[in-house]
Amino acid sequence: MTETTQAAIEITNLTKVYAGGKRALDNINLTIPRGQIYGLLGPNGAGKSTTINILAGLVNKTSGTAKIWGFDIDQNPRNAKNSIGIVPQEIVFDPFFTPYETLENQAGYYGVPKDRRRSLELLRAVHLEDKANAYARTLSGGMKRRLLVAKAMVHSPPILVLDEPTAGVDVQLRQQLWAYVRELNAQGVTIVLTTHYLEEAEELCDRIGIINHGRLITDKPTRELIAMAQEKVVQVTVDRDVATVPDAPCFEKVELSDPRTLTITYMKDRANAGQVLSAVQASGLSIVDVVTRDPDLEDVFLNLTAAA
Ligand code: ADP
Ligand code: MG
Repeated sequence: MTETTQAAIEITNLTKVYAGGKRALDNINLTIPRGQIYGLLGPNGAGKSTTINILAGLVNKTSGTAKIWGFDIDQNPRNAKNSIGIVPQEIVFDPFFTPYETLENQAGYYGVPKDRRRSLELLRAVHLEDKANAYARTLSGGMKRRLLVAKAMVHSPPILVLDEPTAGVDVQLRQQLWAYVRELNAQGVTIVLTTHYLEEAEELCDRIGIINHGRLITDKPTRELIAMAQEKVVQVTVDRDVATVPDAPCFEKVELSDPRTLTITYMKDRANAGQVLSAVQASGLSIVDVVTRDPDLEDVFLNLTAAA
């Protein structure tokens, strides 16, 4: 086996310009290893769904190449398609079929022979067995999404892609969904999910790629990325103009934002806000106001783009 085919997904110089001129993807290079849970993270409009929809064959790329399980989507579209199951962001449903029929139809579409279909098993796995013969319109949003997950798995693809899977899914069902995703991954299925929640990606993913304005700005093991989000910022307003900017071992960085406001950065694994405030007071300043901020995806973005 060549090195190329070891990747679950390999995207090279992928660009998408929509009719109308929007450059949704700008020369993306991304290799997703087999066997992982990979998170594609980015704010709304970043280009996540465009990437997924190109892999799904729903959107035509402008240039570049994409391989799924070693199969080029242009040269070998059939094998590429058979190697991936996709749960789209938008829930599109045929209201005339029951969940069981929906899975049977999809299996038929993929040419899965009757004796190898596993519609009931899949419905059980996504906790919809009691809805097997229900009217589609009686399903909640969360149920529909879980049915779409089952639908994506009817042909037993080695890769499952979930585009914003937790939109409209309540906490309990989200936990069930994640449990199923982890179970599939333990069975060897490579998982790719997109989300705009850093916490969700942190909890679930082995590796995270961050996409912003159609560009991949980072692609790292999750724990490395978390370390980049360790910075915390506290803004301290004091009772008089600061003559000498204080310093302390627990400060990572101190800036005077205006004559009475100090913006102090510290690392949350090494210090806490209490120590930082004590250090300010120890320098002889009286604190009149404090504002703290948790690092979020935006900060990680900012840190990364600043470093680039
Ligand atoms: P994400 O899934 O990360 O929220 P999308 O891939 O849906 O981002 O969108 C990326 C950019 O492309 C956005 O600016 C969006 O408005 C634009 N876009 C998406 N689909 C289309 C389309 N069919 N036609 C024109 N522009 C589109
Ligand atoms: Mg999207």
